Amino acid sequence: MRAAVYHGPGDIRIDDVEAPRIQDPGDVIVKTRTASMCGSDLYLFNGEVEHMVTPGRTTLGHEVCAEVVEVGGAVGRFAVGDRVTFPYSVSCGTCFCCRVGQTAHCETSGKAIYGFGMAFGDLGGSQAEYVRVPLADGHLEHVPPEIGDEAAIFLSCNLPAAVTAVDAAAIEPTDTVAVVGCGPTGLLALELARQRTGQEILAFDRVPERLVRAKELGARPVDVESAELDGLVAEATSGRGVDKVIEFAGRGDAFNLAVSISRPGAVISGGGVYLEQAHPVSLFDMYFKNLQIRLNGFANAKTAQWKAMQMVAKKVIDPTTVVSHEVDLDGLPSAAAAFAGRRGGLVKMLVRV
Ligand SMILES: [Zn+2]
Ligand SMILES: [Zn+2]
Repeated sequence: MRAAVYHGPGDIRIDDVEAPRIQDPGDVIVKTRTASMCGSDLYLFNGEVEHMVTPGRTTLGHEVCAEVVEVGGAVGRFAVGDRVTFPYSVSCGTCFCCRVGQTAHCETSGKAIYGFGMAFGDLGGSQAEYVRVPLADGHLEHVPPEIGDEAAIFLSCNLPAAVTAVDAAAIEPTDTVAVVGCGPTGLLALELARQRTGQEILAFDRVPERLVRAKELGARPVDVESAELDGLVAEATSGRGVDKVIEFAGRGDAFNLAVSISRPGAVISGGGVYLEQAHPVSLFDMYFKNLQIRLNGFANAKTAQWKAMQMVAKKVIDPTTVVSHEVDLDGLPSAAAAFAGRRGGLVKMLVRV
């Protein structure tokens, strides 16, 4: 089968690789219909997590809308022909961590993630014609007919992550909110936050197209490179700082920005992927402001997936509004480079497999 294979920093290729087979009676094999590329895939693409991947072997992608083509003997919930999606990580539904909602830490799967290399279970990715789904009854989900492929791919990662971060921010109707990092998931979180507060939402990024989109969603765009940043936040919040921050950039500098723009007693809801081991963050600043830090970046996508699915089905949010590009597998390598380089106005791509 054809699949996107990591060959080195900035180098993914569409290779012919061995198609997955049923290995366990709980497995399902799905044929990918539509996939995508997540912001977290960029850590792999950019070569920032070389210890986790095997160049020439690791396949990529964890967002999917697919069709079941083969079912293991112990699978009860799925049949050939079912249209399905999975959360980005594999969870059993019955271990301790799954029971307490920490499905990304599933003890049965060992924190397995689709398309994320040896460190996370060495599972095949969704930017491929076929994917093996272990523990399928525990985390694979049917996509209801009213949700199209284009929206369904958001149920794997971006939308559950946005729902989780916005819920954790505990936004009140009187809150001024900041969204730091307006990539696809940040924009979805912004749209959900817009439904929770009638007050101003400040949207921080440095990519012009993203700031334009944030403005279209009713936020006040703030270029993080702007020299007037501090004054602008002070003016918007009577000098106090914002009530709630949703952080989706996933970088130390962005987290420090979140701390600096928070008012005393604010909540920082971090949905970003923080990989920096030793980035300096001031404990004093967080202590002195009585900040509440709520991190869910290693997102329990399975736990929030049902709520996300209901939101799409009932038209609370249309995640496809952040889609800017559509490619096939052959177009993926160049689109991935544009996504990584924040070039060409690429906010979110659909990959038709
Ligand atoms: Zn993701
Ligand atoms: Zn589990």
